[in-house]
Amino acid sequence: MNIRAQLTFRYIIIVLLVLFAMYLYLGTALKGFLSHRITEDLEAHAVLTREILIEKLPPKDNFTYDAIDPLIDRLGKISDARVTFIGVDGTVWGDTERDGAALRAMDNHLTRPEVQDARQLGSGIRDRYSDTTQTEFRYYAMPIYQRTLPAEESELIGIFRVALPMETVNTAIGTLRQIVLFASVAGLMLAIVFSIFSTGVIIKPIEKLTQMTQSLAAGRIDSRVPVDSKNELGRLSRNFNLMADRVQEQIDQISEEHRRLDTILRNMGEGVLLVNGAFEITYANPTAISMLSLPETHIGKALIEINRIPELQELLQIAEQTETVAFAEIRLGNIAEPEAEVTVVPVAAGEEYVIVIHDVTKERQLERIRVDFVANVSHELRTPLTTIRGYAETLLNEDATRTKAQEQFVVKILNHASRLSRLVSDLLELSRLESGDVELKRTQCHLNSFYAPLLDVFEPILEESELVLRWDIPESLPQVRIDQQLFMQVLVNLIDNAIKYTPDGGEITVSAETCRRETAEESAVNSAEIVLHVRDTGIGIPMESQSRVFERFYRVDKGRAREMGGTGLGLAIAKHIVLRHNGRIWLESTLGRGCTFHVAVPL
Ligand code: ADP
Repeated sequence: MNIRAQLTFRYIIIVLLVLFAMYLYLGTALKGFLSHRITEDLEAHAVLTREILIEKLPPKDNFTYDAIDPLIDRLGKISDARVTFIGVDGTVWGDTERDGAALRAMDNHLTRPEVQDARQLGSGIRDRYSDTTQTEFRYYAMPIYQRTLPAEESELIGIFRVALPMETVNTAIGTLRQIVLFASVAGLMLAIVFSIFSTGVIIKPIEKLTQMTQSLAAGRIDSRVPVDSKNELGRLSRNFNLMADRVQEQIDQISEEHRRLDTILRNMGEGVLLVNGAFEITYANPTAISMLSLPETHIGKALIEINRIPELQELLQIAEQTETVAFAEIRLGNIAEPEAEVTVVPVAAGEEYVIVIHDVTKERQLERIRVDFVANVSHELRTPLTTIRGYAETLLNEDATRTKAQEQFVVKILNHASRLSRLVSDLLELSRLESGDVELKRTQCHLNSFYAPLLDVFEPILEESELVLRWDIPESLPQVRIDQQLFMQVLVNLIDNAIKYTPDGGEITVSAETCRRETAEESAVNSAEIVLHVRDTGIGIPMESQSRVFERFYRVDKGRAREMGGTGLGLAIAKHIVLRHNGRIWLESTLGRGCTFHVAVPL
C-alpha cells in the first residue's frame, strides 16, 4: 500500500471513529435528556391533573363509570396524555383509551407495579409495555386522598395515573441515527476528498525527491528537485539539493584528480601495475604494458598467467606475507638485458598491491661504460707511468753529473709517479670489483693465517712510528670461506689507514668473534657470522663524515690524506670486497680518540 492510500485509509478510519463516538455520545445523551423531560412532564401533568381531579371527583361511594370516565377523558385531552383512574380495589373507573364496555372489561389494575409503588411509597414511575394500547409507556402514578379535615385522617380513594408514550424518545433517537448516518456519509466523502488533496501536498514533493534520487543513482548528477514551500518538505528538498551539489562538487574534484592521475600514470617512465589480493591485474599503465608485453585483454587476468616472471610473483608473496613494501632487482623477460627495480606496495591491508617497475637497463649500461672507461684509462696510464718511473730511477741512480736541484726534481718526479701508479692500480682494482668481473676464489681459512703476511708488510713502518699492533683473534674461532687474496686487501687497507691516522706511540688492535646475524631473511638457516674489528687510538672520524668515508675519493681532511700518500679509494675497495662476500662493513668513532672498523662475513 503506498503512502497516499495509507493516509487516505487513516483519514477515513479517524472520521468514522469520530462519527461513531459522536453517535454513541449523542444517542445516550439525548435518550437521557428526553427521558428526563418526559419524567418532568409527567410529574407536572400528574400534579396539575390530580388537583383538578380531587376537586371534581364524587365521594368514594358514589363512583360510577359514567361519572368518572368522561372526567378522565377531559383531563386526558387537556394534558395530552393517557390518564387512568383506579379505585382502591383496583377497578379502572376511567381511562382515556377505553370507553363503555371496553372500560368495564379492563382487568384489575391493583397489581400494576407503579400502582403498588404509589400506594406504598407515595408515587410510582415505570416504563412498561401497555397491553391495553400495545405501546411502550412511561407511567406515573400517585395516590388520591379524600379532602377531609384534619388532613391526617384523609382516606385513600384511588390511584391516579398519567402516562406518556416512549415513542417520542425512540423517534428522536431514530432521527438522530439518520442524521448521524447522513453525517457519516458526508464526512466520509469529505475525508476522501480532503485526504486526496492533503496527501497530494505531502506526496508530490516526496515523489519528486524519489525521482531525483533515482536519477542521481542513475548517474544524472545535475538533477535537482524544485523547492516550492518553506515547510519541512521544502527544507528537505533544499537539503537534498545541497547534498546533490556537494556530491557533484566531490565528483568533479575526484574526476579532476582522476584525470590528473591518469595523465601522470600514462606519461611516466615507470611501469605501474595494480593487482588485487589474488594477484590479478586491475590496472596497468602503458609503460607497464610495454615492459611486460601485456596483451590487450590483461585486466582481470592473473599476473603469473600472462607474464611468467617467478621473481615478480615471489616479490608479491613477500609483500603479502610481511605486509610491507618489498623491493628487488628483477630481470624482465622481453628486453635483451632487461633489468628493473621493482617495488611492491601493499594497499588496503593486502587487498591490493601497487607494483612500480623502474627499468634500469640504461643506467646499468652507462655505469658499465663508466667503469670500462676508468678501467681502460687506468690500464693505458700504467705503461707510460712505468716508463716514467723507470727513467726517473735510472736518472737518480746513474747520472752523477746532475746538480742538487736536478736531483730534487728527479726525486719529485719519482714520488709523484709512484703515487700516480698507486692511484691507477687502485682505480683498476675498483673497476674490476665494480664490473663484477672478479671471480671469488673462496677457500676455507682461519683469520689468524693473515697475521704473518700482514706483519711482513707493516713491521718496518710499525717500528718506525712506534706503533703497537695487537693481534687478538682466538684460535677457537671457526674458519670462514673467503677469497684470501681479496680479504688480505681489506685487512691491508684497514690496517694501513689505522697506521696512517694514528699518531706515533698509539695502538692498533685486530680482534674477531662469532655473532648471530641480525638480518631477518636468513635467520632460519645459517644465521651466524664472523665479525672482525680493527681498532685504533688515532684521530677518529667526525660524525658527519662517518657515512661517507666508503665513497670513492672521499677524504675527511684532503691535504692530510694526500700527505699520507692515500688515494681515497682504500675504503671503497674494502667495501666492494666485503659486499662481494655478502658481508657488511661499518665503523664507530669518537673524534680524537680513534675509530673501530667492523667487517662481518657470513659463516
Ligand atoms: P685514503 O687513501 O685517503 O686513506 P680511504 O678510502 O682509505 O682513503 O679512507 C678515506 C678517508 O677516511 C681517509 O682520507 C681518512 O680521512 C678517513 N679514514 C680512514 N681510515 C681512518 C682511520 N683509521 N682514522 C681516521 N680517519 C680515517
